[in-house]
Amino acid sequence: MAQTTESTVLERTGITTDLLDRLTARIETGDDRSEIEVRTPVADEAIASVPACDPADVAVAVERARTARAAWANRPIEERAAVLERFGDLVGEYREELLDVVQLETGKARHHALEEVLDVPLTCSYYAENGPAVLADEERSGAVPLAADATVTYDPVGVVGVISPWNYPLTLAMTDAIPALLAGNAVVCKPDERTPLIALALADLLEKAGLPEGVFGIVTGEGATAGPALIDGVDYVAFTGGTETGRAVAERAGRNLIDCSLELGGKNPMLVLEDADVETAARGAVKGAFTNAGQLCLAPERIYVDERRYDEFLDAFVGATRSLSVGLAFEYGPDVGSLIDGDHLERVREHVEGAVDDGAALLSGGRARPDVGPFCYEPTILTDVDPDSRVACEETFGPVVSVVPVADVDEAVERANDTSYGLNASVWTGDRDRGRAVARRIDCGTVCVNDPYTVGWAAVDAPMGGFGDSGLGRRHGPEGLRRYVDARTIATSRIGPLDAPPGIDPGWFARIMSGLTAVRRRLTRWVP
Ligand code: NDP
Repeated sequence: MAQTTESTVLERTGITTDLLDRLTARIETGDDRSEIEVRTPVADEAIASVPACDPADVAVAVERARTARAAWANRPIEERAAVLERFGDLVGEYREELLDVVQLETGKARHHALEEVLDVPLTCSYYAENGPAVLADEERSGAVPLAADATVTYDPVGVVGVISPWNYPLTLAMTDAIPALLAGNAVVCKPDERTPLIALALADLLEKAGLPEGVFGIVTGEGATAGPALIDGVDYVAFTGGTETGRAVAERAGRNLIDCSLELGGKNPMLVLEDADVETAARGAVKGAFTNAGQLCLAPERIYVDERRYDEFLDAFVGATRSLSVGLAFEYGPDVGSLIDGDHLERVREHVEGAVDDGAALLSGGRARPDVGPFCYEPTILTDVDPDSRVACEETFGPVVSVVPVADVDEAVERANDTSYGLNASVWTGDRDRGRAVARRIDCGTVCVNDPYTVGWAAVDAPMGGFGDSGLGRRHGPEGLRRYVDARTIATSRIGPLDAPPGIDPGWFARIMSGLTAVRRRLTRWVP
C-alpha cells in the first residue's frame, strides 16, 4: 500500500498528506509490491511512495480499461466531448492545487508550471469542438461513379497506452490522452516514476468530470518493467521521452504490430537574421532557453546569429540572462527553478565543464546553486564551443545554450540542419514573410517565427512532432486525433458484383472497361 512521508516541504504548499494518500490509493496492485519513493527536488526529500507495478499489475490495469471502454465508446461523441470540456473547467478550478503538485514533483518555477495548467483546458476545448467533425463519416467517390460508393468510418483503436516524462508531467500526461478519450478509447498512462502524483490528480479530476471509472487508468513503476508490459497490452502507444527509449518503444510496438507516436528529444536551433530586432530576439532566447530550467524538449540549445548583429545580440542576451533569479518558492517570483534530480544536475555540469575544458567561453552562469536548492543550476551562456564537444552535439536538457556567429542566412540554415534531430527551430527577422520562407528550409517538425516555441506548441489545431531522431507521428490538430482511430471503408455496389455481366464476351468487356477507364482518367484531369 502506497504511503506518504513526513515532509517539511509539504507544509509550504496547500497539499496535505491526506490528499497524497487518497491519490496514491488509486493504484491497484497485487500484494507485496516494492515501493518507489517520490522525492521533491525542492529539498531532495521524500513526499510519498507509489507501488512499483509489475507486468501482472499492468495487465490487470489494461484489462480493466478494456472492459470499461465499450460503454464509453458507445456514448455519442458529443457526450464524450462534454466530459472533456468539464475536465478542462476542473483543471482551471483546481489550478492552485495542481500548481503545487507540479512544483513539488519537479521543482520548476510557478509561472512555468502555469503553462502546463493553461495548456490542458485549451487542448480539451479544441478537441471537444473540432473532434466530432474530424471523426464524422466521410463519403468518398468509390470504385465506379453512379454504380458504387464508399463511406469511411473512424473507430477507436481500443486501449491507448500513454508513456509520459517528468519535465512537463501534467501537460504530457494529458495532451495525448485527451484526443484518445474523445475518440472513444480507454487510456492507461504510465507517468515517469519521479512524477506520478500529478497524473493521479488528473485521473481524479477526470472522474469528477464524469469519465466512467476504469476508462483512464494509471500504472506506476519503473519504465523498464512497466513500459514494455504496457506496450504488450495496448492497441496504440503514445510515447514522450528520450530518443533511445523511443527506439525501444517503437521496436516493441512493431513486434506487437501496433502503431505508435514518438515525441523525442531535440537539439533545437534558433536563427537570428541580420534584419532581426535583437532586443526582441534576446528576450525570446531567454524565454526559450531557460523556461523550466531548459528541461523543455522545444528549448533552443544552439543560437546562430548573423555576425553583423552578433555583439549587439550577445550584449542584450547576456544582460537579460544575468538578471534572472534562480529560486524555489510556491508562489510567483523566481524566474528559474530547479533541475529534476542529482543525476540530471551532474549531466548538465558535465556538459558545461567539458565545453569549457575544450576552450568554450562562459559568458553567464556555469555554476550549480546548492545555496538555493539541491539541484539548482544557473542559466548559462557559452560561446566559442568546440563543435565536437558534448554540449554541441548532444541534448543537454538544461539551462545551457551556445551562441555562434554565422556569415549569413545560408550558413545559419546549414548549421541548423547539421544534426540528426529535427524537433523545433525558430527564425528571428524583421520580415515575417522572409521568416516563413527560411522556415521551409529548416528540417524540423515545428519552426516558429519571432517566438521561441510557444506560438507553435499553443497552436493546438496544428500538428506537432519531430523529423529524424526527434520522433514519429504528430500530436495536436486533426493528425493528433486520427492516430487513435482505425479507418474502415464501407463500399457499396448498386449493380451487384463489379464484374462482366453474365453472357458478355470477355474481350468485348475488356475493351469497354479500358475505354471507360481512359475517359474517367481524362475527366478527372479536366474536372478536378
Ligand atoms: P526517458 O525516455 O528516460 O523516459 C520517458 C518515459 O519512458 C518515462 O515514463 C520512463 O519511465 C519510460 N521508460 C523508460 N524506459 C522505458 C522502456 N524500456 N519502455 C517503455 N517506457 C520506458 O526520458 P526522460 O524521462 O529522461 O525525459 C527526457 C527526454 O524526453 C529528453 O530527451 C526530452 O527531449 C524528451 N522529451 C521530449 C518531448 C517531446 O515532446 N518531444 C517532451 C518532453 C521530453 P521511468 O522514468 O519511470 O523509468
